[in-house]
Amino acid sequence: MRRMKLVAIGNGMAGIRTLEELLRVAPDLYEITVFGAEPHPNYNRILLSPVLAGEQRFEAIVLNDFRWYADHGITLHPGSKVTCVDRQARVVVSADGRQESYDRLLFATGSVPIRPPIPGTDLPGVLTFRDIADTQAMIEAAARHKDAVVIGGGLLGLEAANGLLARGMNVTVIHLAPWLMERQLDATAAALLQTSLEQRGLRFLLNTQAREIVADDAGRVGAVRLNDGAEVPAALVVLAVGIRPNDELARACGLHCERGIVVDDTMMTYDPRIYAVGECISHRGISYGLVAPLFEQAKVCANHLGHLGFARYTGSTVSTKLKVTGIDIFSAGHLGGDDGADEITLLDRGGAVYKKLVLKADRLIGSVLFGDTADSSWYSRLVKDETPIGELRGRLILGQPALGSSGHQGEQNAAALPDDFEVCGCNGVCKGTIVRAIKEKGLFTLDDVRKHTKASSSCGSCTGLVEQLLASVVGGAYQPRSASQTPVCECTDYTHEEVRRAIRDHELLSIPEALRFLEWRTPNGCATCRPALNYYLLCAWPGTYRDDPQSRLVNERAHANIQRDGTYSVVPRIYGGVTTPAQLRQIAEVAEKYAVPTVKITGGQRIDLLGVRKEDLPRVWADLGMPSGFAYGKSVRTVKTCVGSEWCRFGVQDSTRMGIELEQGLDRVWTPHKVKLGVSGCPRNCAESTIKDVGVVGVDSGWEIYVGGNGGTKAEVAQFLAKVALPAEAMEYTGAFLQLYREEARYLDRTSHWIHRVGLDYVKRRIVADAEGRKALYARLTEAQRDVPDPWALRVARRDPEFETISARDRYPSERNRNESMAESLPAR
Ligand SMILES: Cc1cc2nc3c(=O)[nH]c(=O)nc-3n(C[C@H](O)[C@H](O)[C@H](O)COP(=O)(O)OP(=O)(O)OC[C@H]3O[C@@H](n4cnc5c(N)ncnc54)[C@H](O)[C@@H]3O)c2cc1C
Ligand code: SF4
Repeated sequence: MRRMKLVAIGNGMAGIRTLEELLRVAPDLYEITVFGAEPHPNYNRILLSPVLAGEQRFEAIVLNDFRWYADHGITLHPGSKVTCVDRQARVVVSADGRQESYDRLLFATGSVPIRPPIPGTDLPGVLTFRDIADTQAMIEAAARHKDAVVIGGGLLGLEAANGLLARGMNVTVIHLAPWLMERQLDATAAALLQTSLEQRGLRFLLNTQAREIVADDAGRVGAVRLNDGAEVPAALVVLAVGIRPNDELARACGLHCERGIVVDDTMMTYDPRIYAVGECISHRGISYGLVAPLFEQAKVCANHLGHLGFARYTGSTVSTKLKVTGIDIFSAGHLGGDDGADEITLLDRGGAVYKKLVLKADRLIGSVLFGDTADSSWYSRLVKDETPIGELRGRLILGQPALGSSGHQGEQNAAALPDDFEVCGCNGVCKGTIVRAIKEKGLFTLDDVRKHTKASSSCGSCTGLVEQLLASVVGGAYQPRSASQTPVCECTDYTHEEVRRAIRDHELLSIPEALRFLEWRTPNGCATCRPALNYYLLCAWPGTYRDDPQSRLVNERAHANIQRDGTYSVVPRIYGGVTTPAQLRQIAEVAEKYAVPTVKITGGQRIDLLGVRKEDLPRVWADLGMPSGFAYGKSVRTVKTCVGSEWCRFGVQDSTRMGIELEQGLDRVWTPHKVKLGVSGCPRNCAESTIKDVGVVGVDSGWEIYVGGNGGTKAEVAQFLAKVALPAEAMEYTGAFLQLYREEARYLDRTSHWIHRVGLDYVKRRIVADAEGRKALYARLTEAQRDVPDPWALRVARRDPEFETISARDRYPSERNRNESMAESLPAR
């Protein structure tokens, strides 16, 4: 039987996605021919930004190579632009003289960049940012010239500017609106974004109009003249002021177009033989410029081209993520400001975290996230599904984890997602596809999933979710990458050990220096590598390296632990758990003064003031007049003690004194992960020392030292390291052990994980057998601790303005009441 002939005009993301869907539902229905004006196979246009920034290579962004077309019997004409469609004869004609008849025609011609109506946009050196050719031209220009101007501070303009900056250019962004990305962000999020980008070196002229692009003496672009007559030098100008549907060819052949080719809910144009998808269409008056809606259209279009005839496209809720590595920003749905819309906001200027949720009629209708986008998929889903918020409202701003559940929460969340949930936005891969591939092809590793589904193989932001899916499907059989070869993160191929060695051997003294020397793929690292680098530098160069608060995790930035309701907990240092009436009175007064809702004795024998508002933190610290307990840090936290021989009938050693001395000796020491210690006065072990990172147990003839214990999710009993006679020796062994851990463990390794990897024998060799080495390690620990100030005292003295928080509680008194009653009913920790 003769197959029908389908011709696609446009070899881009929407067109080829439609063909992929069509091959799935009706593989034998058509003989398919594709015309593509670009000379390349179908590639991931989204990833041109990382290519420009030097984070990806061109070859890596190809979605379907030439062989794919051949394998599926598709005739591709690359570099062949269709110039005419004869609808009566049902023939298309291309600029290079080809003719092809069709039974069905698919328009997928994308869009074209808008050129602002100012003189000079046709000068050499003035580019747009749309395809591989543009990107290549920008890369070449960046290699030869210094000054660039990007006109347009939207998503595309900022990604272009960031890429050119990464290639060493001085970049100025000229933007007409009062703030950046004004269509996706509100003024607050945009201000945080602008600050982050300025810190990287970008320059912005907002509320500013370019009047003319001026040529230099050689007839190339030389400057951009502004409305006030000022000139910004520019050897490269990128126009990024917007796009418009590429419907010129459709108009020329008489198809009905408005702003784009008009289609109905089946993606059919006014001509029943012609369909259209992608950025070139106008559906219910809307043209979309992001891939997620285009992929939905592709599915519906394939359903009708494949003669199934039941799917309908009714429009999309779009969400946006800026692809500038190291800046987490997300926006979905409405920005607020409408009549009847409520807003819940949380702003932590110091921590550079902002969240805004827009609600209307018990539904979430939009969200803007800056700095912490972990819950973006969840908010997106709530918006898309129009889920009633009801009871969730009080905790909504705190994200999905605040809803409860513990333990394997990630896997449970991943398992609960619907099959059509899009996990990988870059490649449009849904959960169902990943799970099917894992099951049917027997996949066990992240690399396998990447190879078979393309999920997580592009920008990598969905890697965590893909890993959770793997774990939820294959359980214990999930094989994470071998830890010894695991790079620090997606920004580099170097392992933790290699990075630490380079920092030491090549005397790298700052994060930018380390990134440059190690040829990091991203200009500024990411949320995974920056805290690790900050720690490695701190550990390698105590006293020389200046701690970078912006590279710390959120609790460490605030010097307090954020709680479910957005308030903080304050735990002052109480050495060895021994306090005084005066200290207790002071704590009680502070608790009353700041209406602290819960005062709790912790598992580590400290006092926790729970429910302190962020803006009160510096005053609370000042009024307490006690050092920080570091309960929030990857650092030495507490030394738990029993009463010991001073009071206890069974005690054989003074564990309390030992605990106090240990805690004083280890105070303010940063470590790869949290470290807890315990000291017991006899083997009855009332301080539970043998589930601590370091446990010291008194015996008749001295002290036994145990290491690598852990009381967490997976309890680990500490292993015997050594027996010593004197308290000073116990101090030296403990300090040396922790310094070895500090110097050799990977960031976020607990002591137990590290010992599992290197072996207890190794630790014994370094600490017990090598007395010289032990003393040297201990000396380095003491050196590292010297001159480290108490962070609370420092903040109090500096009067930091960053502890200014506008929360839902401030804005909405009713929310405040609800949150307070929630806090009262919180279970004890
Ligand atoms: C730098 C950049 C970054 C982006 N980042 C994101 C992002 O982070 N997230 C997101 O969702 N979206 C992003 N986008 C947008 C996304 O890439 C587009 O929405 C998507 O590519 C549109 O798909 P399309 O098939 O409609 O058009 P295209 O992918 O542009 O494909 C259209 C193709 O048709 C060809 N064509 C046009 N006319 C003819 C003709 N007459 N004959 C033959 N061929 C023709 C064109 O050459 C082109 O190859 C980005 C876009 C760019 C440029
Ligand atoms: S561990 Fe021994 S010394 Fe300490 S309280 Fe218990 S019994 Fe007493």
